[in-house]
Amino acid sequence: MTDPNDIRIAKLLHARADLAPGDPIAPPIVLASSYHLPGLPAEAPFQYGRFHNPSWDAVEHALALLEDAPVVGFPSGMAAIAAVLYSTLRSGDRILLPSDGYYTTRALSERFLGPLGVAFDTRATANFLDGGFAGYRLVWIETPSNPGLDVCDIAAVCAAAHAAGAIVCVDNTTLTPLGQRPLDLGADLVVAADTKAPAGHSDVLFGHVASRDEKLLAAVRDWRKFGGAIPGPFEAWLVHRGLETLELRFARQCDNALAIAQRLAVHKATVSVRYPGLGNDPSHGLARKQMQRFGGLVGVTFADAASAESFIACPFIRPSTSFGGVHTSAERRARWGDAVAPGYVRLSVGCEPLEALWAAMDESLARLA
Ligand SMILES: *Cc1c(COP(=O)(O)O)cnc(C)c1O
Repeated sequence: MTDPNDIRIAKLLHARADLAPGDPIAPPIVLASSYHLPGLPAEAPFQYGRFHNPSWDAVEHALALLEDAPVVGFPSGMAAIAAVLYSTLRSGDRILLPSDGYYTTRALSERFLGPLGVAFDTRATANFLDGGFAGYRLVWIETPSNPGLDVCDIAAVCAAAHAAGAIVCVDNTTLTPLGQRPLDLGADLVVAADTKAPAGHSDVLFGHVASRDEKLLAAVRDWRKFGGAIPGPFEAWLVHRGLETLELRFARQCDNALAIAQRLAVHKATVSVRYPGLGNDPSHGLARKQMQRFGGLVGVTFADAASAESFIACPFIRPSTSFGGVHTSAERRARWGDAVAPGYVRLSVGCEPLEALWAAMDESLARLA
């Protein structure tokens, strides 16, 4: 049987179907702020640049093919996350966030939702089911968590949260729809930063929300229209272009990451390695159950900050934040204040040919061992 993800990618590559002779194969970038609009506005497919844009439509259609769900695009991952929070929550609601997930989601909730009367609790991803979900309007999952790479059972959390009357949103940035499919596991909403692997070239920020619940997604779309956090047409076009090679790049990243995690795990210069694809990783059982791929992120702990920095100084590792790009990159997450050891490195494995990449890493490691 053909892998459903392969069919999704093939459809994405042929999404521009009914072209007339002479039409461009690539979607055009449409920069219009206003559209020819005689008569009644409702009769025109495009009215004003904050409401619609053909370049958004192209990338949203491609993302919808990957998600098997309608998609609303945003100018960043955080804009997509904010859209879900602001469109679903009301004063008096309570939400549950992962304590070890993307920091800015918690910071946004604390700084801006708290004063509006929305309370939040946090819980570690590895124990996310403990304590149940009674009293929550929204339960937020991020698995594997960023940066620690712990995993929780998406289907089990969705079932328990729904039974308690909550809706569930999954931040699926680390794995993309090719690596994990939260909507198929019961989630009501998915958000992702397409800034990472989907765009993939470290040159654009973008985000999206996907949902099969029409009411939830209509509220997200209205939030974008009224709140004004709209993507730029050129950024939408860049992400569309990135998506056409996502499967190739992500497959290389995941294959490289597994091989490198295996080699780092047995290297005497490292203290410990986290990667959901390693047979002895605490998350491996769940990862095998709910992920199609184990992703491109590897967590490596060195004895101290200096050893970690020395590893990162490898010529084929870019010292930078963010992940999912074609270039391997890494950073010590403690430098941002994450609750991880000073020698913990989040390694984002790129698309370099494996043996060239490993040879350079091995040289860096030799200076430490
Ligand atoms: C990067 C990231 C975001 C935010 O995306 P931006 O495009 O930087 O706004 C959200 N969640 C996760 C898990 C991320 O890694």
